[in-house]
Amino acid sequence: MDAVWTSRLAIVIAIAGQSIDVQAQGAPADPVKVLVERLDLERYKATIKGLTLFGDRREGTARNRAAVDWIETQLKSYGCTDTERIKYVYDTILPPPRQGAAASRRSAIASGEIRRGVGGSRLRGMTRRVVPNDDPKAQTDPALRARNAELPASGPREEVFCTKVGATHPDEMYIVGAHMDGLGFGEAADDDGSGTALVMELARVFSSPDVETARSIRFALWNNEETGFQGSRAYVTQRAPLQGKEDPPGSGRYPEPRWIAMIQHDMMLWDHGMPHADGTVSAEQRPEADINIEFQSTSKFALAAMKLAFFFRDANETYATDYPASAGHHMSNTDSSAFMDLVPAISLRENERGMQIGAGWNPHYHQATDRYSSYSDKDFRLGLNATQTSLAALAQLVDVRLK
Ligand SMILES: [Zn+2]
Repeated sequence: MDAVWTSRLAIVIAIAGQSIDVQAQGAPADPVKVLVERLDLERYKATIKGLTLFGDRREGTARNRAAVDWIETQLKSYGCTDTERIKYVYDTILPPPRQGAAASRRSAIASGEIRRGVGGSRLRGMTRRVVPNDDPKAQTDPALRARNAELPASGPREEVFCTKVGATHPDEMYIVGAHMDGLGFGEAADDDGSGTALVMELARVFSSPDVETARSIRFALWNNEETGFQGSRAYVTQRAPLQGKEDPPGSGRYPEPRWIAMIQHDMMLWDHGMPHADGTVSAEQRPEADINIEFQSTSKFALAAMKLAFFFRDANETYATDYPASAGHHMSNTDSSAFMDLVPAISLRENERGMQIGAGWNPHYHQATDRYSSYSDKDFRLGLNATQTSLAALAQLVDVRLK
């Protein structure tokens, strides 16, 4: 089974690579470049801003449901009109531990000391503890505190997706995801308004009437990521068995195209480097900031996922305007984990999840300060470059054409 999927992806990657070479030799305008140029920093920022108007979008609340409705309205307005919802029930409400004085909880890893992080990673240097904020009073803005006042209740949940249907291979698709729920009593601007806006921007560009793709792409905005990935797992449980079935027979319609790969986006803005010895973090994006593309070396499809990760890195080198990308093998704590033993799966982030985010490199992570106003254009531009990277890679993988 691994060989079948590995070769499917390998063939797609080989074909995508060839089409770039042809375009480099003076054929008409490169459609991938044309599409990347349809992305724009102000549009990307405006979508993040729109998401932050729903506060931290914590799952199981009215503000979360309103955000799902808003995302669906936006997707339709982009021309991604066949929106659908996954419905499931979540009834285990476990509050995250309280934050306390996080900034003072720092520790330096000694020379030669091996301290492991999640996903098989190894922590290095100066670390800060990362504990989600569960104290509503940590929000100093009274209006935002009021917006985030409702606490989650057990019950039904929904999440939305839409699909760009492939012109010649409607029965095969890439799944492109981000989680729209957040926590921490802020605005969940970075985690994960930034990834949600990225996926929405991809939906906008690929849904333009002049864009045709050979294969399908599904744009999924997962719910319940912060409680343990119940939204993406519900999708896998409900939809995996439906893959590749034409319904009705002979119609050419595939409600669940066969999955080729899963690409997740989570926290795309902040790469200010390692905490200083006093536990503080640099105020400015570091000039050498990069996008981290991760796969999981212990997953069933590790080899194909590794190839996919480096394909995304190559797409970054060819098409992204500012920041580079690097690839790592410790993907963890992400919605792509639910897919990684079924298809090749990767995750894009501002930092490596284990070694860097897990060591407290982002002081806004799950905090009341994860607000739109906490980020500069240098931060937003890292997210834009991640959008350029995923758009360019996907455009090649689905064999994009401009009509
Ligand atoms: Zn997240």
